[in-house]
Amino acid sequence: MQLSAIGVPVEELDTPALLLDLDRFEQNIAKMSEHFQARGVAWRPHAKAFKTPAIAHQLRKAGAIGVTVAKVSEAEIMAAAGIDDILIAHLVVGPHKTKRLAALQRHADVKATVDHLDQVAPLGESARVCGVTIGILVDVDLGLRRCGVASATDAVKLAQVVSETPGLRFEGLMGYEGHALMIPDRAQKKAAIQEAIGILLSTKDAVERAGLNCRIISAGGTGSYQYTADLPGITEIQAGGGIFACQYYTQVCGVEGHWPALSLLATVVSRPAPDRAILDIGHKSVSQYRTPPILRDYDNCPVIGLSAEHAVVGVAPGNDFPIGKKVAVIPGYSDFTFVLHDRVIGHRWGLVEVVWPLLARGMLQ
Ligand code: PLP
Repeated sequence: MQLSAIGVPVEELDTPALLLDLDRFEQNIAKMSEHFQARGVAWRPHAKAFKTPAIAHQLRKAGAIGVTVAKVSEAEIMAAAGIDDILIAHLVVGPHKTKRLAALQRHADVKATVDHLDQVAPLGESARVCGVTIGILVDVDLGLRRCGVASATDAVKLAQVVSETPGLRFEGLMGYEGHALMIPDRAQKKAAIQEAIGILLSTKDAVERAGLNCRIISAGGTGSYQYTADLPGITEIQAGGGIFACQYYTQVCGVEGHWPALSLLATVVSRPAPDRAILDIGHKSVSQYRTPPILRDYDNCPVIGLSAEHAVVGVAPGNDFPIGKKVAVIPGYSDFTFVLHDRVIGHRWGLVEVVWPLLARGMLQ
């Protein structure tokens, strides 16, 4: 785990190394937490972004009520580390997973989502065998065209079946307005998010008219929270990755007021031409999903190509990139970068302060 790195100057670390600027990270956390507190909406950050219980605990301390995850195995890691309120915002299907989810209820309140009648009975059966109750949210399609029931009528029917199934507890609804994140025009983005969340809230009304209480209405991601949290009726927001503020959020989704906190320390390993420097990072260590990584301290030297283990930097005249030099690279997308690393190294004032193992990395089931 390289805990011995603590106290070491960052520039002395071997590369590639995934680095977290703790001052910026804490600023981003405070920004998100204050945003939600000011609007009276709870924060349940999606842990797919950060993969580590240590960060989940930082977020809890800052006011998050728990975490969102995608997989039962991620929930197991979080629960084992003492995170006791978890939402699995993905469908839990198959006997392995329903049994694991039921067993986990003894250690944490781990809620699941459903969007089809066929998912309900196996969850209830596993809960009853285990002698526990599983909280359930109905997933509603808000226009993303991924998962989620397609109509309020279907949501009501599903919510009724859940509430009548022994072993299950109907908790409310969730939806994800993921199709609206990258709309560049702010007014259009706001309108698209309002329309999407409108579907969720009108579905809530229909479910409540049928006599079922929706304690939780969960939505939102980093790319939308600055709009979604303003909409009355949403009880919690799932935004997670904004704590890192990679290029995808700040440049592609237009998220404002966040500081890039995550970087990769890389070494110049070759200078095959005056206008080209090669770094020891590539697809196996950094993501360029939606947008390429950038060099933190060289605006005019873009990353012009990535292969598995090489990054090609276009060197503008006047820049010094000797072999052996270390540079900081801001990832395109933090999510897909974190899953490539075993640990993240937190630093402050140039020195390593913490080394956090990414314990939920590889938790795909
Ligand atoms: N909620 C769900 C269900 C998602 O799939 C996603 C992103 O894919 C999010 C929330 C947003 O996560 P983040 O804030 O890390 O972008």
